[in-house]
Amino acid sequence: MLRSVILAAARSKKMERVVGAAPVTRSLVKRFVAGETTAEAVAVARELASQGLLATFDYLGEDTTSPEQADATRDEYLRLLAALKAEGLSHMAEVSLKLSALGQMFDEESSYARAHEIATAAADAGTTVTADMEDHTTTDSTLGIVERIRRDFPEFGTVLQSYLRRTEDDSKALAYKDSRIRLCKGAYKEPETVAFQRKIDIDRSYVRCVNALMAGEGYPMLATHDPRLVEIGIDRARWYDREPQDFEFQMLYGIRPQEQLRLAGEGYRVRVYVPYGDQWYGYLMRRMAERPANMMFFARSLATKK
Ligand SMILES: Cc1cc2nc3c(=O)[nH]c(=O)nc-3n(C[C@H](O)[C@H](O)[C@H](O)COP(=O)(O)OP(=O)(O)OC[C@H]3O[C@@H](n4cnc5c(N)ncnc54)[C@H](O)[C@@H]3O)c2cc1C
Repeated sequence: MLRSVILAAARSKKMERVVGAAPVTRSLVKRFVAGETTAEAVAVARELASQGLLATFDYLGEDTTSPEQADATRDEYLRLLAALKAEGLSHMAEVSLKLSALGQMFDEESSYARAHEIATAAADAGTTVTADMEDHTTTDSTLGIVERIRRDFPEFGTVLQSYLRRTEDDSKALAYKDSRIRLCKGAYKEPETVAFQRKIDIDRSYVRCVNALMAGEGYPMLATHDPRLVEIGIDRARWYDREPQDFEFQMLYGIRPQEQLRLAGEGYRVRVYVPYGDQWYGYLMRRMAERPANMMFFARSLATKK
Protein backbone atom coordinates (compact mmCIF):
# COMPACT_ATOMS: atom_id res chain seq x y z
CA MET A 1 0.00 0.00 0.00
CA LEU A 2 2.69 2.51 1.10
CA ARG A 3 4.83 1.34 -1.81
CA SER A 4 2.02 2.18 -4.27
CA VAL A 5 1.59 5.65 -2.74
CA ILE A 6 5.31 6.36 -3.01
CA LEU A 7 5.46 5.10 -6.59
CA ALA A 8 2.48 7.35 -7.44
CA ALA A 9 4.29 10.28 -5.78
CA ALA A 10 7.31 9.46 -7.94
CA ARG A 11 5.26 10.61 -10.94
CA SER A 12 3.77 13.73 -9.33
CA LYS A 13 5.19 17.12 -10.33
CA LYS A 14 3.63 18.70 -7.25
CA MET A 15 5.35 16.23 -4.91
CA GLU A 16 8.57 16.76 -6.80
CA ARG A 17 8.41 20.49 -5.95
CA VAL A 18 7.65 19.80 -2.26
CA VAL A 19 10.39 17.19 -1.89
CA GLY A 20 12.91 19.19 -3.93
CA ALA A 21 12.46 22.26 -1.70
CA ALA A 22 12.95 20.39 1.59
CA PRO A 23 16.41 20.84 3.18
CA VAL A 24 16.37 17.23 4.45
CA THR A 25 16.27 16.05 0.83
CA ARG A 26 19.84 17.19 0.26
CA SER A 27 21.46 14.64 2.58
CA LEU A 28 19.26 11.87 1.24
CA VAL A 29 20.12 12.71 -2.36
CA LYS A 30 23.79 12.79 -1.43
CA ARG A 31 23.56 9.26 -0.09
CA PHE A 32 22.08 7.78 -3.28
CA VAL A 33 23.28 10.13 -6.07
CA ALA A 34 26.93 10.77 -6.96
CA GLY A 35 26.56 14.45 -7.87
CA GLU A 36 25.28 16.54 -10.75
CA THR A 37 28.25 16.88 -13.09
CA THR A 38 30.50 14.72 -15.30
CA ALA A 39 33.47 15.67 -13.12
CA GLU A 40 31.69 14.47 -9.97
CA ALA A 41 30.84 11.17 -11.67
CA VAL A 42 34.45 10.67 -12.73
CA ALA A 43 35.61 11.41 -9.17
CA VAL A 44 33.29 8.67 -7.87
CA ALA A 45 34.57 6.25 -10.52
CA ARG A 46 38.11 6.93 -9.32
CA GLU A 47 37.19 6.45 -5.68
CA LEU A 48 35.34 3.18 -6.34
CA ALA A 49 38.19 1.88 -8.50
CA SER A 50 40.64 2.60 -5.68
CA GLN A 51 38.51 0.29 -3.50
CA GLY A 52 38.48 -2.46 -6.13
CA LEU A 53 34.89 -1.76 -7.15
CA LEU A 54 33.60 -1.52 -10.72
CA ALA A 55 30.99 1.09 -11.62
CA THR A 56 28.17 1.72 -14.04
CA PHE A 57 26.95 5.30 -14.46
CA ASP A 58 23.36 6.31 -15.00
CA TYR A 59 22.77 9.89 -16.14
CA LEU A 60 19.43 10.60 -14.51
CA GLY A 61 16.59 11.61 -16.76
CA GLU A 62 13.18 10.11 -17.47
CA ASP A 63 10.01 11.18 -19.23
CA THR A 64 11.99 12.71 -22.05
CA THR A 65 9.48 14.39 -24.32
CA SER A 66 11.57 16.16 -26.97
CA PRO A 67 14.40 15.24 -29.36
CA GLU A 68 16.46 18.08 -27.86
CA GLN A 69 16.24 16.53 -24.36
CA ALA A 70 17.14 13.11 -25.76
CA ASP A 71 20.11 14.57 -27.66
CA ALA A 72 21.30 16.31 -24.49
CA THR A 73 21.18 12.99 -22.61
CA ARG A 74 23.13 11.23 -25.36
CA ASP A 75 25.69 14.05 -25.38
CA GLU A 76 26.23 13.72 -21.64
CA TYR A 77 26.92 9.97 -22.04
CA LEU A 78 29.40 10.74 -24.82
CA ARG A 79 31.09 13.34 -22.59
CA LEU A 80 31.28 10.93 -19.67
CA LEU A 81 32.70 8.09 -21.78
CA ALA A 82 35.36 10.43 -23.21
CA ALA A 83 36.24 11.60 -19.69
CA LEU A 84 36.47 8.03 -18.34
CA LYS A 85 38.73 7.11 -21.24
CA ALA A 86 40.92 10.21 -20.77
CA GLU A 87 41.27 9.44 -17.05
CA GLY A 88 42.19 5.79 -17.69
CA LEU A 89 39.09 4.58 -15.84
CA SER A 90 37.08 2.95 -18.61
CA HIS A 91 38.29 -0.57 -17.74
CA MET A 92 36.57 -0.09 -14.36
CA ALA A 93 33.44 1.81 -15.40
CA GLU A 94 30.67 1.37 -17.94
CA VAL A 95 27.36 3.23 -18.45
CA SER A 96 23.71 2.32 -17.92
CA LEU A 97 21.01 4.07 -19.90
CA LYS A 98 17.25 4.31 -20.00
CA LEU A 99 15.93 4.15 -23.53
CA SER A 100 13.03 6.40 -22.44
CA ALA A 101 15.60 9.12 -21.71
CA LEU A 102 16.81 8.72 -25.31
CA GLY A 103 13.35 9.22 -26.82
CA GLN A 104 11.84 5.69 -26.83
CA MET A 105 8.37 7.02 -25.93
CA PHE A 106 7.96 9.31 -28.91
CA ASP A 107 10.38 7.92 -31.51
CA GLU A 108 11.65 4.39 -30.96
CA GLU A 109 13.94 4.49 -34.00
CA SER A 110 15.75 7.61 -32.84
CA SER A 111 16.24 6.11 -29.35
CA TYR A 112 17.87 3.12 -31.08
CA ALA A 113 20.13 5.48 -33.06
CA ARG A 114 21.18 7.41 -29.94
CA ALA A 115 21.84 4.22 -27.96
CA HIS A 116 23.90 2.93 -30.91
CA GLU A 117 26.02 6.10 -30.84
CA ILE A 118 26.64 5.62 -27.12
CA ALA A 119 27.56 1.95 -27.71
CA THR A 120 30.03 3.06 -30.39
CA ALA A 121 31.65 5.56 -28.00
CA ALA A 122 31.78 2.94 -25.25
CA ALA A 123 33.52 0.44 -27.55
CA ASP A 124 35.98 3.18 -28.52
CA ALA A 125 36.67 3.80 -24.83
CA GLY A 126 37.11 0.06 -24.21
CA THR A 127 34.00 -0.37 -22.12
CA THR A 128 30.35 -1.43 -22.33
CA VAL A 129 26.76 -0.21 -22.03
CA THR A 130 23.76 -1.76 -20.28
CA ALA A 131 20.18 -0.75 -21.09
CA ASP A 132 18.00 -0.45 -17.98
CA MET A 133 14.51 -1.97 -18.01
CA GLU A 134 11.53 0.24 -17.27
CA ASP A 135 7.85 -0.66 -16.87
CA HIS A 136 6.44 -3.72 -18.64
CA THR A 137 4.90 -1.76 -21.50
CA THR A 138 8.45 -1.11 -22.73
CA THR A 139 9.95 -4.60 -22.32
CA ASP A 140 9.44 -5.83 -25.90
CA SER A 141 10.59 -2.54 -27.40
CA THR A 142 13.72 -2.50 -25.20
CA LEU A 143 14.64 -6.12 -25.94
CA GLY A 144 14.11 -5.45 -29.66
CA ILE A 145 16.46 -2.46 -29.61
CA VAL A 146 19.04 -4.39 -27.57
CA GLU A 147 18.94 -7.24 -30.08
CA ARG A 148 19.60 -4.84 -32.96
CA ILE A 149 22.48 -3.09 -31.19
CA ARG A 150 24.01 -6.46 -30.29
CA ARG A 151 24.50 -7.20 -33.99
CA ASP A 152 27.29 -4.58 -33.89
CA PHE A 153 28.14 -4.71 -30.18
CA PRO A 154 27.50 -8.20 -28.79
CA GLU A 155 28.53 -7.08 -25.30
CA PHE A 156 25.69 -4.51 -25.11
CA GLY A 157 23.87 -5.57 -21.93
CA THR A 158 20.33 -5.36 -20.69
CA VAL A 159 18.18 -5.91 -17.61
CA LEU A 160 15.57 -8.53 -16.78
CA GLN A 161 13.17 -8.15 -13.84
CA SER A 162 12.24 -11.27 -11.87
CA TYR A 163 8.84 -9.86 -10.86
CA LEU A 164 7.64 -10.25 -14.45
CA ARG A 165 6.06 -13.62 -15.17
CA ARG A 166 7.76 -13.75 -18.57
CA THR A 167 11.30 -13.35 -17.20
CA GLU A 168 12.16 -17.00 -16.61
CA ASP A 169 11.57 -17.62 -20.33
CA ASP A 170 13.45 -14.45 -21.26
CA SER A 171 16.37 -15.58 -19.07
CA LYS A 172 16.57 -18.89 -20.91
CA ALA A 173 16.29 -17.22 -24.31
CA LEU A 174 18.94 -14.62 -23.52
CA ALA A 175 21.53 -16.90 -21.86
CA TYR A 176 23.61 -17.18 -25.02
CA LYS A 177 27.32 -16.52 -25.50
CA ASP A 178 28.50 -12.95 -24.72
CA SER A 179 25.01 -11.96 -23.56
CA ARG A 180 25.37 -9.65 -20.55
CA ILE A 181 22.19 -9.82 -18.48
CA ARG A 182 21.60 -7.82 -15.31
CA LEU A 183 18.99 -9.60 -13.22
CA CYS A 184 17.04 -7.50 -10.72
CA LYS A 185 13.69 -7.89 -8.95
CA GLY A 186 12.02 -4.88 -10.61
CA ALA A 187 11.15 -1.44 -9.25
CA TYR A 188 7.87 -0.40 -10.92
CA LYS A 189 4.23 -0.87 -9.94
CA GLU A 190 3.03 -3.65 -12.23
CA PRO A 191 -0.37 -5.35 -12.57
CA GLU A 192 -0.95 -8.90 -11.37
CA THR A 193 -1.61 -10.05 -14.93
CA VAL A 194 2.04 -9.57 -15.85
CA ALA A 195 3.91 -9.56 -12.54
CA PHE A 196 4.21 -11.55 -9.33
CA GLN A 197 3.05 -9.44 -6.40
CA ARG A 198 4.27 -11.36 -3.34
CA LYS A 199 7.91 -11.02 -2.27
CA ILE A 200 8.26 -14.79 -1.94
CA ASP A 201 7.10 -15.31 -5.55
CA ILE A 202 9.41 -12.59 -6.85
CA ASP A 203 12.33 -14.14 -4.94
CA ARG A 204 11.57 -17.65 -6.20
CA SER A 205 11.38 -16.33 -9.72
CA TYR A 206 14.74 -14.63 -9.14
CA VAL A 207 16.31 -17.97 -8.19
CA ARG A 208 14.85 -19.71 -11.28
CA CYS A 209 16.27 -16.92 -13.44
CA VAL A 210 19.69 -17.17 -11.74
CA ASN A 211 19.70 -20.88 -12.57
CA ALA A 212 18.81 -20.22 -16.20
CA LEU A 213 21.49 -17.54 -16.59
CA MET A 214 24.23 -19.44 -14.74
CA ALA A 215 23.48 -22.61 -16.74
CA GLY A 216 23.82 -20.72 -20.02
CA GLU A 217 26.80 -19.24 -21.83
CA GLY A 218 26.20 -15.56 -21.15
CA TYR A 219 27.50 -13.25 -18.46
CA PRO A 220 25.08 -12.97 -15.49
CA MET A 221 25.08 -9.74 -13.48
CA LEU A 222 23.20 -10.32 -10.25
CA ALA A 223 21.77 -6.96 -9.19
CA THR A 224 20.41 -7.36 -5.69
CA HIS A 225 21.12 -6.34 -2.10
CA ASP A 226 19.22 -9.31 -0.77
CA PRO A 227 21.66 -11.36 1.38
CA ARG A 228 19.87 -14.66 0.66
CA LEU A 229 19.96 -14.13 -3.07
CA VAL A 230 23.64 -13.14 -2.97
CA GLU A 231 24.42 -16.43 -1.18
CA ILE A 232 22.31 -18.37 -3.67
CA GLY A 233 24.15 -16.62 -6.51
CA ILE A 234 27.51 -17.73 -5.09
CA ASP A 235 26.22 -21.27 -4.64
CA ARG A 236 24.77 -21.46 -8.18
CA ALA A 237 27.99 -20.10 -9.69
CA ARG A 238 29.89 -22.92 -7.98
CA TRP A 239 27.33 -25.48 -9.10
CA TYR A 240 27.72 -24.38 -12.72
CA ASP A 241 31.54 -24.23 -12.48
CA ARG A 242 31.78 -20.52 -13.00
CA GLU A 243 34.93 -18.72 -11.88
CA PRO A 244 34.51 -15.41 -10.00
CA GLN A 245 35.32 -13.50 -13.23
CA ASP A 246 32.50 -15.26 -15.13
CA PHE A 247 29.70 -13.29 -13.44
CA GLU A 248 29.31 -10.26 -11.22
CA PHE A 249 27.28 -8.76 -8.41
CA GLN A 250 25.80 -5.32 -8.73
CA MET A 251 24.43 -3.01 -6.06
CA LEU A 252 23.23 0.56 -5.95
CA TYR A 253 25.41 3.44 -4.83
CA GLY A 254 24.74 4.11 -1.14
CA ILE A 255 23.05 0.77 -0.42
CA ARG A 256 24.96 -1.86 1.59
CA PRO A 257 28.38 -0.31 0.86
CA GLN A 258 30.10 -2.60 3.40
CA GLU A 259 28.68 -5.66 1.68
CA GLN A 260 29.99 -4.37 -1.65
CA LEU A 261 33.49 -4.19 -0.17
CA ARG A 262 33.17 -7.55 1.56
CA LEU A 263 32.27 -9.33 -1.69
CA ALA A 264 35.03 -7.54 -3.61
CA GLY A 265 37.46 -8.52 -0.83
CA GLU A 266 36.49 -12.15 -1.33
CA GLY A 267 37.47 -11.89 -4.99
CA TYR A 268 34.07 -11.40 -6.60
CA ARG A 269 33.50 -8.78 -9.26
CA VAL A 270 31.24 -6.12 -7.76
CA ARG A 271 29.83 -3.24 -9.80
CA VAL A 272 28.20 -0.23 -8.18
CA TYR A 273 25.35 1.43 -10.08
CA VAL A 274 25.98 5.15 -9.72
CA PRO A 275 23.32 7.67 -10.71
CA TYR A 276 24.27 11.29 -11.26
CA GLY A 277 22.66 14.42 -12.69
CA ASP A 278 20.06 16.88 -11.45
CA GLN A 279 16.97 14.80 -12.33
CA TRP A 280 17.19 12.64 -9.23
CA TYR A 281 13.55 12.80 -8.07
CA GLY A 282 12.03 9.67 -9.74
CA TYR A 283 15.13 7.64 -8.92
CA LEU A 284 15.10 8.68 -5.26
CA MET A 285 11.40 7.89 -4.88
CA ARG A 286 11.84 4.38 -6.31
CA ARG A 287 14.57 3.76 -3.72
CA MET A 288 12.18 5.01 -1.02
CA ALA A 289 9.46 2.66 -2.28
CA GLU A 290 11.80 -0.32 -1.95
CA ARG A 291 12.26 0.45 1.71
CA PRO A 292 9.28 2.12 3.35
CA ALA A 293 11.35 2.47 6.56
CA ASN A 294 13.47 5.03 4.66
CA MET A 295 10.30 6.79 3.58
CA MET A 296 8.84 7.02 7.08
CA PHE A 297 12.07 8.55 8.31
CA PHE A 298 12.08 10.98 5.40
CA ALA A 299 8.39 11.91 5.77
CA ARG A 300 8.86 12.70 9.47
CA SER A 301 11.82 14.94 8.62
CA LEU A 302 9.77 16.72 5.94
CA ALA A 303 7.01 17.35 8.46
CA THR A 304 9.25 18.61 11.25
CA LYS A 305 11.99 20.59 9.48
CA LYS A 306 11.58 23.91 7.72
C1 LIG B 1 22.57 -2.51 -10.22
C2 LIG B 1 21.08 -2.40 -10.18
C3 LIG B 1 20.40 -2.04 -11.31
C4 LIG B 1 19.00 -1.98 -11.30
N1 LIG B 1 18.35 -1.70 -12.47
C5 LIG B 1 17.01 -1.77 -12.49
C6 LIG B 1 16.28 -1.66 -13.72
O1 LIG B 1 16.85 -1.46 -14.80
N2 LIG B 1 14.93 -1.75 -13.66
C7 LIG B 1 14.25 -1.98 -12.48
O2 LIG B 1 13.01 -2.09 -12.52
N3 LIG B 1 14.91 -2.06 -11.31
C8 LIG B 1 16.26 -1.96 -11.27
N4 LIG B 1 16.92 -2.11 -10.09
C9 LIG B 1 16.15 -2.08 -8.81
C10 LIG B 1 15.69 -3.46 -8.41
O3 LIG B 1 14.68 -3.89 -9.30
C11 LIG B 1 15.11 -3.49 -6.98
O4 LIG B 1 14.02 -2.62 -6.89
C12 LIG B 1 16.13 -3.11 -5.91
O5 LIG B 1 17.41 -3.61 -6.21
C13 LIG B 1 15.70 -3.68 -4.54
O6 LIG B 1 15.61 -5.08 -4.58
P1 LIG B 1 16.68 -6.07 -3.86
O7 LIG B 1 16.94 -7.17 -4.81
O8 LIG B 1 17.86 -5.31 -3.47
O9 LIG B 1 15.92 -6.74 -2.66
P2 LIG B 1 15.03 -6.19 -1.48
O10 LIG B 1 14.24 -7.35 -1.01
O11 LIG B 1 14.30 -4.94 -1.88
O12 LIG B 1 16.11 -5.77 -0.39
C14 LIG B 1 16.96 -6.68 0.28
C15 LIG B 1 17.76 -5.93 1.33
O13 LIG B 1 18.60 -4.95 0.71
C16 LIG B 1 18.63 -3.75 1.45
N5 LIG B 1 17.97 -2.67 0.65
C17 LIG B 1 17.28 -2.83 -0.47
N6 LIG B 1 16.83 -1.66 -0.96
C18 LIG B 1 17.23 -0.71 -0.10
C19 LIG B 1 17.09 0.70 -0.05
N7 LIG B 1 16.43 1.37 -1.00
N8 LIG B 1 17.65 1.36 0.98
C20 LIG B 1 18.34 0.69 1.93
N9 LIG B 1 18.51 -0.66 1.93
C21 LIG B 1 17.97 -1.35 0.94
C22 LIG B 1 17.90 -4.06 2.72
O14 LIG B 1 18.83 -4.56 3.64
C23 LIG B 1 16.94 -5.14 2.31
O15 LIG B 1 16.52 -5.93 3.38
C24 LIG B 1 18.30 -2.22 -10.09
C25 LIG B 1 19.00 -2.60 -8.95
C26 LIG B 1 20.36 -2.70 -8.97
C27 LIG B 1 21.07 -3.14 -7.73
